[in-house]
Amino acid sequence: MEGQKVIVCKNCGSNAIQVTTSGANGCAFAGFGFILICVGIWIPFIGWFIVMPIGALMMISSFLFPLLQKRFSVNCQNCKHKFYIDKEEYEQYKESIK
Ligand SMILES: [Zn+2]
Repeated sequence: MEGQKVIVCKNCGSNAIQVTTSGANGCAFAGFGFILICVGIWIPFIGWFIVMPIGALMMISSFLFPLLQKRFSVNCQNCKHKFYIDKEEYEQYKESIK
């Protein structure tokens, strides 16, 4: 068994880091798509064929974004250095902080 995987800042070596995922952006995107669908339903033709499909696409893509994300940005709380980790490193990090 390996020890716990800890992500440390590549600049100062601190482990006080914060990982930014696209989850929050995805939620906002889904909410906006939902509003477009609600509004589009009341607008004949333009709403049904243009606004609603755009809203549906936004909702779908908001669910796909987190799955497609390969790199996660990490902010160091200590020196404010910003760097990126890949998905595998992030998965191991999530496991280690459970
Ligand atoms: Zn740092």
